[in-house]
Amino acid sequence: MTRKPGALRRHRSTKIVATLGPGTSTPERIRTLFETGVDVFRLNFSHGKQADHRERLEIIRALEQETGRPTCVLADLQGPKLRIGPFATGPIALHPGMEFRLDLDPAPGTQRRVSLPHPEIFEAITVDSELLLNDGRVRLRVLSHGSDFAETVVISGTELSDRKGVNVPGVILPLSPLTDKDRADLAYALDLGVDWVALSFVQRPEDVAEARRLVANRAALMVKLEKPSAIQHLDQLIEMADGVMVARGDLGVEMPAEDVPSIQKRIVRESRLAGKPVIVATQMLESMITAPAPTRAEASDVATAVYDGADAVMLSAETATGAYPIEAVSIMDRICRRVEQDPLYRAIMDAQHPEPQRTSADAITAAARQVAHTIQAAAIVTYTTSGSTTLRAVRERPEQPILCLTANLGTARRLALSYSVHAVHTGDVSEQDELVEKAVRVATEDGLASEGQRLVITAGIPFGTPGSTNLLRITWIERS
Ligand code: PGA
Ligand code: MN
Repeated sequence: MTRKPGALRRHRSTKIVATLGPGTSTPERIRTLFETGVDVFRLNFSHGKQADHRERLEIIRALEQETGRPTCVLADLQGPKLRIGPFATGPIALHPGMEFRLDLDPAPGTQRRVSLPHPEIFEAITVDSELLLNDGRVRLRVLSHGSDFAETVVISGTELSDRKGVNVPGVILPLSPLTDKDRADLAYALDLGVDWVALSFVQRPEDVAEARRLVANRAALMVKLEKPSAIQHLDQLIEMADGVMVARGDLGVEMPAEDVPSIQKRIVRESRLAGKPVIVATQMLESMITAPAPTRAEASDVATAVYDGADAVMLSAETATGAYPIEAVSIMDRICRRVEQDPLYRAIMDAQHPEPQRTSADAITAAARQVAHTIQAAAIVTYTTSGSTTLRAVRERPEQPILCLTANLGTARRLALSYSVHAVHTGDVSEQDELVEKAVRVATEDGLASEGQRLVITAGIPFGTPGSTNLLRITWIERS
């Protein structure tokens, strides 16, 4: 990988995650997304074949080779998401009062029925149970059911298409957090070398423990919070994961819509306090699936996540299947940048400083932020192997960009998700002067600092020992 200095430097702290799909899988499209502002590419294993994801990953890594910027790939496992099967001839029209059947027959769906390959649902429901499909857009009430079918009546909804999700609120289904498909997809994704794995429909801490064993440090582990029971175990789940997603799509179906905003704010706050990256996901620019500009409410929703100090905001169908994927990334980039320029935004970040923990890493990191503020440094530089020093710096939400230098490419890639981090993969350093020289060179080359400005550098000596952060240094970038 050859570094192209200054290439793809972002002018914002909040990161953008974009889901790839049929509309965004050519090398040209993926390159344009990257150039427009995507920091993390999401491979959604709920859709597409494994080979599709491999192809996308290969394109992304080729882009890394070419641009010299570390790329970050998040593999999102479907989890025990309940879905209907496909239809024979595209979407069908629905209207209230119409009867519709769900059953175990794998044959493609018609105007009258579709397959729902989950016998446990037919066992658990009763007459009058409600089934919510397609994120609650379609509501069906059970009229009668057997062990392999349910006859229902449409309460609301106008359209249904292939493989839409099904939620059964209030009914507890005995489901493992990792289905057989998830296990196969996980092995495949780890084999591809993805940077993050996201676990869907986590309910209990045990779910994360099992995934951890399977991942065995080959990728970072993200928990998607989308079940009421996950919210009950919030602290423990955040503690056990490397990152967190506020998965508002399913969360907003499983819980009343009015509960979601407060839960979102609580998850973002707790994740930040724990020093774990947190993504706000789903429906951020939903109308852009079919329109070239967002609604005012959507712009405001993205802005809220930024004002809350989330690490990243996410696009799903907007980029996977929408008609305006590039426009969606572009407007998201502009909203993030605009909010971050608001003095109120800076005041909020400054007012929310978490207490440092009683570790030398936190002591150095908190001091680095203070020093950088006092001397108006151009950037904070962290030299890290595991990424943990950088994550502690991120926790401070400093006003300067965080330049992360690391000899570990996996660390550089993973940190692309984190607030304000500009990660650069460099060789090992063995001397302090060598680190200073490298920090100055990279910061200048990548446009984070210029002559006459200062950098605040943190590292652990001896170099390469994780968790040993004990060095704080100020350096001038001399005029040549
Ligand atoms: P999904 O997860 O897109 O995989 O369903 C996100 C969400 O539920 O919001
Ligand atoms: Mn979901």
